[in-house]
Amino acid sequence: MPELPEVETIRRALEPALVGRAFDDVEIADARLTRPFDPVVVAAELRGERVEQVDRRGKYLIVRFESGRALLIHLRMTGSLQHARDGLPDDPHRRAVVRLDDGSDVAYRDVRRFGTWLLAEPGELEPYLAARLGDEPLETRLTARRLGGRLAQRRAPIKAAILDQRTLAGVGNIYADEALWRARIHPRRPAGELDDAELARLVRGIRAALRMGIERQGSTLRDYRQPDGTSGDMQREFAVYGRDGEPCPRCGTPIEKIRTAGRGTWFCPTCQPLHIQR
Ligand SMILES: [Zn+2]
Repeated sequence: MPELPEVETIRRALEPALVGRAFDDVEIADARLTRPFDPVVVAAELRGERVEQVDRRGKYLIVRFESGRALLIHLRMTGSLQHARDGLPDDPHRRAVVRLDDGSDVAYRDVRRFGTWLLAEPGELEPYLAARLGDEPLETRLTARRLGGRLAQRRAPIKAAILDQRTLAGVGNIYADEALWRARIHPRRPAGELDDAELARLVRGIRAALRMGIERQGSTLRDYRQPDGTSGDMQREFAVYGRDGEPCPRCGTPIEKIRTAGRGTWFCPTCQPLHIQR
């Protein structure tokens, strides 16, 4: 599932292709993409819009238009976007195509069809996002103290708390595990129990994991365009995610897999103890 680093990678790839371009034609072939709105109506509304900026907030990609409107794209499980200058190959999983005014195409494909496109009118976007998303983890506004304030009194496991998009925007299952390993915090520790030093390590760990993901996804995006594109090489760069039984890169203890917050969770039982001696 695309997390902050994947969406940021897509944003960086699309930005030069989209900024300044107008949507000459839009076809939306899947009513699930725009529901509850009629895809034909949404496509017609998008025609003629000119792109001013391509932003990201959490896992949302935001195409801002000169008109003040914005197209809010969430890729969910399997959504992806491709930009093509020489036409598009047949693809049974293509859900939408935007023809730009330079003749190139932006195609949206989604095998499992959970992705969404929402056209926001001027003024609608910020309140929509504010109701759903907490701090951007890579912005300096997020400090250990601020995160501590949001986690205070919460008895939920820390992993569940950082997966909650209203607390932190953009962290998903992979980067939560990697961040907690870097911070040496057990994923089931009650969120409100973390002390100042642990909160500081957690903020650093989240940022480091996300930044590494952004660097690495640069190559994954290129692989993704290949028909047989896999993420096999990428897995080797994770410290814990998906690596049960393999040695912890820091101490050599075999990585364990448990379920936390309903998700597969990987951690090092030595580096990330559940019970802390203070
Ligand atoms: Zn370890």
